[in-house]
Amino acid sequence: MMTAVPYKIYLSEKELPKNWYNLKAVMKELPPPPLHPATLKPCTEDDLKPVFCTKLVQQEMNTKDKYIEIPQGLMDFYKMIRPSPLIRAYNLENMLDTPAEIYYKFEGTNTSGSHKLNSAAAQVYYAKEQGITRLTTETGAGQWGTALAMACAYYGIDLTVYMVKISSQQKPYRKAVIETYGGKVVPSPSDTTEAGRKILADMPGTGGSLGCAISEAIEMALKTENCRYVLGSVLDHVLLHQSIIGEETKVACEKYGIVPDVIIGCMGGGSNFGGLIAPFMGDRIAGKNNIRFIGIEPASCPSLTRGKYAYDFGDTGKTTPLMKMYTLGSGFIPSPSHAGGLRYHGMRPILSKLSDDGYLEAATVTQTKAFEAATTFARCEGILPAPESSHALYAAIDEAKKCKEAGEKKTIIFGLSGTGYFDLSAYMSYNDGSMKDYIPTDEELEKGFATLPKVE
Ligand SMILES: *Cc1c(COP(=O)(O)O)cnc(C)c1O
Repeated sequence: MMTAVPYKIYLSEKELPKNWYNLKAVMKELPPPPLHPATLKPCTEDDLKPVFCTKLVQQEMNTKDKYIEIPQGLMDFYKMIRPSPLIRAYNLENMLDTPAEIYYKFEGTNTSGSHKLNSAAAQVYYAKEQGITRLTTETGAGQWGTALAMACAYYGIDLTVYMVKISSQQKPYRKAVIETYGGKVVPSPSDTTEAGRKILADMPGTGGSLGCAISEAIEMALKTENCRYVLGSVLDHVLLHQSIIGEETKVACEKYGIVPDVIIGCMGGGSNFGGLIAPFMGDRIAGKNNIRFIGIEPASCPSLTRGKYAYDFGDTGKTTPLMKMYTLGSGFIPSPSHAGGLRYHGMRPILSKLSDDGYLEAATVTQTKAFEAATTFARCEGILPAPESSHALYAAIDEAKKCKEAGEKKTIIFGLSGTGYFDLSAYMSYNDGSMKDYIPTDEELEKGFATLPKVE
């Protein structure tokens, strides 16, 4: 069969984007500012500098520059891992017998296995430039910790990773990779911090959560010399770094005349999806396209679809600035039976605002449905997807099926944010039928909402 578009689109080194795309510079209205947790006044750069690297704080606050240049020392790292391919899912299209064209941007080709390395490398690069010698972070499913360990090894920085306890037990191989790259892993909650000791006392036997690992990592950064904390999602500078995904996708689309009707991604904290859509969303805001943007959440942790749009803390220990976002409450502890890294209680402020303004749709998928889609995809496209990415995959298949019913030829792009090699225990439980779906009841959500701080 003759095809206009190759199965895999790779950009040449010359075609690689040289800038990140800053959505905040093009939004008609900005998300309300983060508030200092003690004073409830908008955070200043000085509030954030003890915790985060200075350059990252400046990027976090930047609402002016649409394009921010990727520094050369970071480009050298990006060249090892990028570009990622944009793949036309011909086999999936044939199997579904759909008139839709389906493309996916696959971020799982690097060793850490996901998009997270795009921001990990940037954050470590800036830490190094500032003369920082140690970093702390949290990791949930382990992808962020792995990505950061790779970047820290490359730039020569010490790393301590607070890993959500249940994940460190379920994913020993993730831990092994982090340690191989020289990172130190501490299961969270731990007795190495006050925040951890408090959570252990309040909730003995807890499997932990991202929110509580964040509290521990921040506390440790603040009490350690020449150390900063880095975060893998939620913050605006992380979305900025992930915009490389969307920038590459846009160059590829323009080169081959691909005009997307729908762009779909999975959302934990919203970085890979936010990054994928960034330049397309900018055009949409400017009235240059009419793309539907659909973010998919796990039914077990539905922050954008069932949360409240309110100021909330980013962590369980209530130490981070307050951010206005769709949230289930920082006290919401998601079901430990949920596989993968989509278990964060809030949705990042930029995506929350875009959703509130009507630019973004959101939907949920249960994990068994996501794994069903993953299995279908693996068998026809060859790639074993990450459980998180499979939520987006499910929605893309669903959209393509609707095109078949309606006899419509739409162009669908979805983000395949990572590989599933490190998620085989989840695949095992799906395969042997023991995987359970968990959908919180309204009463359970109320308990989380009750932990929202009183602001306004
Ligand atoms: C961490 C992760 C996610 C979710 O995080 P976002 O901030 O929403 O991108 C999704 N997919 C993969 C493979 C991940 O590792």
